[in-house]
Amino acid sequence: MKNISVTVIGAGLAGSEAAWQLAQRDIHVELYEMRPLRETGAHISGNFAELICSNSLGSNLYDRSSGLLKNEIRLLKSKLMEVADKTAIPAGGALAVDRELFSAKVTYELENHPNIKIIREECIEIPDGPVIIASGPLTSAKLTAKIIELTNTENLYFFDAIAPIVQIESINFEIAFRASRYSDEDAEGDYINCPMDKDQYITFISELTKAKRIQLKSFEKQIETGVNAGDPLFFEGCLPVEILASRGEMAMAFGPLRPVGLKDPRSGKRPFAILQLRQDNLAGDLYNLVGFQTNLTFPEQRRVFRIIPGLENAEFARYGQMHRNTFIASPKLLKPSMQSNGRQNLFFAGQITGVEGYVGNIATGLLAGINLAKYLRHEPLLVLPQETMVGALCHYITHANQKDFQPMKANFGILPPLEMQIKTKRERYKAYADRSMQIMKSFLEKGLVE
Ligand SMILES: Cc1cc2nc3c(=O)[nH]c(=O)nc-3n(C[C@H](O)[C@H](O)[C@H](O)COP(=O)(O)OP(=O)(O)OC[C@H]3O[C@@H](n4cnc5c(N)ncnc54)[C@H](O)[C@@H]3O)c2cc1C
Repeated sequence: MKNISVTVIGAGLAGSEAAWQLAQRDIHVELYEMRPLRETGAHISGNFAELICSNSLGSNLYDRSSGLLKNEIRLLKSKLMEVADKTAIPAGGALAVDRELFSAKVTYELENHPNIKIIREECIEIPDGPVIIASGPLTSAKLTAKIIELTNTENLYFFDAIAPIVQIESINFEIAFRASRYSDEDAEGDYINCPMDKDQYITFISELTKAKRIQLKSFEKQIETGVNAGDPLFFEGCLPVEILASRGEMAMAFGPLRPVGLKDPRSGKRPFAILQLRQDNLAGDLYNLVGFQTNLTFPEQRRVFRIIPGLENAEFARYGQMHRNTFIASPKLLKPSMQSNGRQNLFFAGQITGVEGYVGNIATGLLAGINLAKYLRHEPLLVLPQETMVGALCHYITHANQKDFQPMKANFGILPPLEMQIKTKRERYKAYADRSMQIMKSFLEKGLVE
């Protein structure tokens, strides 16, 4: 199909994988990358697939969600996974890579592929022809403006203010109770509530304000301080809890920890403060800490949030985060094949779709690349089974509640529940991984992916 040319915007993790998948299917690709001519504020080189922060791609263990995701995309012949495996460095059960070698090798492979033409320019228009937008969380301003034109402002988010998510089985229900604010006392209630007395509240606030925070990059500092931030949406409505807490000892008690409309069924009284947790997934095993967007380091989140009564043993499925993040309203705009709802030859991939994590971004690039090739050949597009981690991620971002839509990384909570109840976590995770791998293998035996 060399007479057809497709455009891939962004040679990050998703765009590099997408371009490779297309080129391998004999499709001519024009791959746009603006670095090093234009900076993102976070990348430091001109190489493709640069790992912005950590050099770890997460767990490589068979029975971990991130390990499962890797195994699935290895089966799907991911080029970036192949390079990651080749450039791996010792990191116990995790897959860490020599970051420079990794991105240098990806760059070399793409630059030397006969079907790929590299264009080192900022892409400022969305072409009318077949295209994959994989410009990442730090998409340039001009391209962002074009995406807004295409999707409407309310369908694009600029900032991640993610609250942590915990596993329900790790919540102590000797302390926590279910209730909704102002609801009938006998009703079950949609929220899980963790009550605090005054001393517990003061201890928590004191630790919260002292806890170690992630160092902000300059563009994120603008968000925090409001200087030059350009969009008021960024601040007061979604302040990190530690900033709010540092404004005054009672700020949280009148904010996210307000107890109004709630009574502890054991004492019949209104607690001094209450943390509410809201259901986060359909299976009902993940709950997010309402209003608890934070910029604390991950170990500090674990330590400080475990001070809250009822969360002493909380297991975190996702930690809170605050950083600049451009992502579209995928539940409204995208299909699980990564094809846009509004334009058939337009696909999105990577963090801009609301998938979080290096490997998740590679996975969506892979799927978008395969599916754009299928679209051009008039073949049905691939939608991966929901029992697989890639399928579940794509399903999640395209079916989540649009109002509260936040990026999601691979985790077992987004997979459909197992048929059998398995008590121990280890065995349950292994059963999930077994089921996913078996379903992915049978799916691939159908010959839908060449
Ligand atoms: C500060 C920060 C730290 C992160 N740390 C981690 C981490 O430690 N672990 C983790 O798993 N995830 C992390 N993430 C989340 C995410 O996994 C990474 O951002 C990942 O690189 C996203 O992959 P991507 O392909 O979607 O985007 P990117 O890898 O960012 O690739 C997008 C590419 O598009 C280019 N581009 C943008 N606009 C244009 C344009 N108009 N024209 C041409 N090119 C353009 C960019 O230069 C970039 O190369 C982090 C995100 C941020 C913002």
